[in-house]
Amino acid sequence: MPRSPATSADVVVIGGGVAGLLVAHRCAATGDSVLLLEAGERVGGRCLSLDAGGIRVDLGAAWHWAEHTRVPRVLDRFSLARIRQYEPGVAVFESGRNRPVEHVDWPSTPPPSWRIEGGTQALIDAVADVIPDGTVHCGMRVDRIRQAGPDGIRVEGTGSEGPFSVEAARCACAVPPRLVAHTIDIRPLPSGVKDALRHTPTWMSHSLKAGVVYDRPFWREDGWSGRVRSLVGPIHDWHDATPPASLASGGRSRGAGGLFGFGPPLQQGVSMDDFRKRIVEQLVHCYGPAARDPVAVRVQDWSRAPRTTPSAGSACRVDEPTAVPALSREYWNGRLHFVAAETACDHPGFLDGAIEAAQRWEEQTSATASAAA
Ligand SMILES: Cc1cc2nc3c(=O)[nH]c(=O)nc-3n(C[C@H](O)[C@H](O)[C@H](O)COP(=O)(O)OP(=O)(O)OC[C@H]3O[C@@H](n4cnc5c(N)ncnc54)[C@H](O)[C@@H]3O)c2cc1C
Repeated sequence: MPRSPATSADVVVIGGGVAGLLVAHRCAATGDSVLLLEAGERVGGRCLSLDAGGIRVDLGAAWHWAEHTRVPRVLDRFSLARIRQYEPGVAVFESGRNRPVEHVDWPSTPPPSWRIEGGTQALIDAVADVIPDGTVHCGMRVDRIRQAGPDGIRVEGTGSEGPFSVEAARCACAVPPRLVAHTIDIRPLPSGVKDALRHTPTWMSHSLKAGVVYDRPFWREDGWSGRVRSLVGPIHDWHDATPPASLASGGRSRGAGGLFGFGPPLQQGVSMDDFRKRIVEQLVHCYGPAARDPVAVRVQDWSRAPRTTPSAGSACRVDEPTAVPALSREYWNGRLHFVAAETACDHPGFLDGAIEAAQRWEEQTSATASAAA
């Protein structure tokens, strides 16, 4: 991907997660010139998958539920399939490392959820593929957004080759609001909006997610669901992440199997190597010696991911994100929009919210254009 963007465009998009990519795709499709500036070396943001053994295990976003109706619509548009989260079978309950695990029929049927076949990375790849070459620029961290005269905005930042500055007519800032408040200087901005940015938690930024891939989903062969509930960790909730293609009829394996799970952030002084070893020990305790030799183990501690969670101030936990009206409005006469998932009116913080925010951008900008005509 090119690293030095042009110095002007109709639209500048900041952040290459699913929201930013969808906005960039939409702008390019309607004929606007667009630049997407992404601070990291990859696009996807909180959509990140462990790629091992021929399967993908999600280390960030994974599920959508029945009420998240925008997700299947976008998947259809990009010819992607979804798979129902596997729940049947016997779950494991781990109450202590020195006690045998218990095997339980999961007490209640959870609301059905789906994952994206090929992981959320498949969605990111599909959207990135249809964005024109020369649009997406990685390694470009935006530090400032300014009004530039009555008709434009200026975005300044730091790239791997030094400072850069881009002028545009409109800006879609697709960076999580709390990170914006801590790391991007936007002026002028009403103090109420600054407060709203600062106080909007980034969904799941307090969490750690682990993915493990085995050469086969041996737990499924034995009738286990892959679901583990643990009181001792290091991972408190494990879920099956095996794609249907890895299983032949009768539950026999014909490909790799995956598990993913959630835990609290890594404690100070615990090395990633030790943590990975503890994860494997936990799975051996839950599933026996077959769990001893994974193909891959990867841990993503989102509370320490600088492009998700600001280093100033700890990641804040939130049980259910709520809509923040100040963040779904447009500013500077329609030139500045916040479009990360947390700015959505519907399902803020979720993938569905990221899609809603990108669609809102489209609706607001076309309404502004018609009013000006
Ligand atoms: C562990 C975890 C589990 C989750 N599970 C689910 C789930 O099951 N279902 C669900 O719907 N959602 C889930 N989510 C939330 C989901 O990941 C988000 O809703 C979605 O990915 C947000 O997309 P986004 O584009 O709004 O923001 P992000 O994905 O956060 O993208 C923001 C982008 O901005 C970039 N950036 C940051 N600062 C700058 C800067 N200064 N300049 C330029 N670029 C910058 C970042 O590098 C990043 O690429 C989960 C999240 C996590 C962390």
